[in-house]
Amino acid sequence: MTDKKPNSSKRAPSTPHRASQGNRDFRKRTRREAQPSDISVSAPHGKPIDGNADAQPAILLREGREKSLLRRHPWIFSGAVERIDGAPASGDTLPVRDSAGKFIAWAAYNAGSQITARVWSWREEETIDADFFRRRISAALEARRALLPSPASGGGAGGEGKLTAQNTGARLIHAESDGLPGLIVDQYGDVLVMQIGSAGAERWRETIADILQALCKPTCIYERSDSDSRTLEGLELRCGVLRGNLPEAVEVVEHGLRFGVDVAEGQKTGFYLDQRDNRALTGTLAGGKDVLNCFCYTGGFSLYALRGGAKSVLSLDASADALRIAEQNLTRNNLDASRAEWQEADVFVALRKLRDQGRSFDMIILDPPKFAPTAAFAEKAARGYKDINLLGFKLLRPGGLLFTYSCSGGINEELFQKIIAGAALDAGVDAQIVHHLHASADHPVLLSFPEGAYLKGLVLRVAGTSLT
Ligand code: SAH
Repeated sequence: MTDKKPNSSKRAPSTPHRASQGNRDFRKRTRREAQPSDISVSAPHGKPIDGNADAQPAILLREGREKSLLRRHPWIFSGAVERIDGAPASGDTLPVRDSAGKFIAWAAYNAGSQITARVWSWREEETIDADFFRRRISAALEARRALLPSPASGGGAGGEGKLTAQNTGARLIHAESDGLPGLIVDQYGDVLVMQIGSAGAERWRETIADILQALCKPTCIYERSDSDSRTLEGLELRCGVLRGNLPEAVEVVEHGLRFGVDVAEGQKTGFYLDQRDNRALTGTLAGGKDVLNCFCYTGGFSLYALRGGAKSVLSLDASADALRIAEQNLTRNNLDASRAEWQEADVFVALRKLRDQGRSFDMIILDPPKFAPTAAFAEKAARGYKDINLLGFKLLRPGGLLFTYSCSGGINEELFQKIIAGAALDAGVDAQIVHHLHASADHPVLLSFPEGAYLKGLVLRVAGTSLT
């Protein structure tokens, strides 16, 4: 993709350091890093004081600051910490105690993050060791088996993560929501891609890779620990083969459609598995329609629309690399290229051009990158969402459908709906919500961790006649 990250060797040193935050202007960003472990926070600051260096390492909370933990929220913010006893290193597992010294949880410590610790377990008798990770990983795999289409022959890695021939991709581990803070594992057929976003998961990286290898038997485990959140965690960026060999070409089958996945250089872990079922919905509604797919990446929504019988599909993305794969994906699926047009463009500019040219569509998809990684960016992000959605509404024909998404942790569902309502009002259209959408079932959201629900979508139908 356009913002390639350096690859480094498997044995790269893991000394934490702070790197620059880079350009956070969303109009220049080409990566949509929608991972719960990416959700950074604007929590109250306050550096915990060092406690008794000779005592057993432990995290001692300020009085009354255990409340969110008692509700099982897995993050301990620096502002909640009274002192750190002992001389722990980042990644160490420490007991967390309330101000009266009562045990609350075992958590992975990170000296260099606003999130001072992330909880591994709430049970005092638990030992955080290889067995613990084997149990948690097995539970995550078991949940996928129960949730995704029943296993068939063919497709998928050979072991426990086996999927069907129609669907060879899945998020196997969804970080905090699977009880494994900071750990993402995505499966593309026989290849697993692992992304580590916390000091705790970083400490257990080799153990986790061994367990995945034993349980899933992939031909390759590739590490893509290069998300922005690592910088906030004080971790270096690291990519490369962890186990096995990376095949020359990696492919994922999704609802029977085949997509090439660039696990080494593609965005996120190479593909946006979270939109799987939303893409399928698009396919079922696209028949006979003129479709505009904005932020198309490797053509996900476009291919579903074409297979669903769309009359035409215009796809826009800023990344030439993504568009190249998108065109290959079209051929890979023997879809009619004459109905597809691909344009390398900035969507903010292209939508205005289309409006000025008097173009209109029956279906528009807006699936932009993360505009607001935290609530602090919400206002600026809201302007971005309103802008593209207002233009989207203007380009829709009466009775047309707008599929609009936000993967910003800093924008919740309610706010997103308000922004869309404002855009419709300013565009002068009456619109109805016909679907509320979220990430697919392999991206579960732990009830005590609402931050896990980063992806929200609305399908809106623009009324043919005035309704208000
Ligand atoms: N809908 C896609 C995923 C979209 S990810 C799918 O189903 O796979 C967001 C995409 O937005 C990325 O491909 C990125 O290259 C693109 N992007 C980011 N900023 C952009 C901009 N200003 N104009 C056009 N594309 C942009």
